[in-house]
Amino acid sequence: MKVAFHQIVGDEYVRRISDDGWFPGDEVTALTPVDGLVSLRRIGSDRVDVTGRMTVIVTAACDRCCRPVSSELMIELTYHCRLGRESVDGVATVAECREEDCQTLFLPEPIIDLGILLREQIYLALPARVLCCSDCRGLCQQCGTDLNDTRCSCLQDGDGGPFSVLRQVKGK
Ligand SMILES: [Zn+2]
Ligand SMILES: [Zn+2]
Repeated sequence: MKVAFHQIVGDEYVRRISDDGWFPGDEVTALTPVDGLVSLRRIGSDRVDVTGRMTVIVTAACDRCCRPVSSELMIELTYHCRLGRESVDGVATVAECREEDCQTLFLPEPIIDLGILLREQIYLALPARVLCCSDCRGLCQQCGTDLNDTRCSCLQDGDGGPFSVLRQVKGK
């Protein structure tokens, strides 16, 4: 999804997001195709502002019980793409803006690879923790039983955890 500066004519160049290989499918499992639009505005000869939004439903394993959890990523993005300065060895570098929600991207040539921006946004939008529910009990560390479904005998034997202490108190 590369767009050259010269392709942006008129006020705005709007493009529907399509997956032409930019989506990090090896690491992120998408249940739906990415849906969204990006809009490019040319600001002078050396700058293009990119704004857009996209949604995609992804799935990942719960950190505690490993059940698949799907979540909808709703992403809004803003980039200021500038030609030239602050590029290092011909590689575009990203510098954070003072505003938290925008970034300046320095380009070695007047071509914006939207795939790079979109992929970065997918990574940023992924939840740091994946939980099927806030009170997921997880798997028993000893026998692997999914404690959301059933209890195992390991717990009843007591392992010195807070529950075994409670049971002792109650038993007295
Ligand atoms: Zn879980
Ligand atoms: Zn167990």
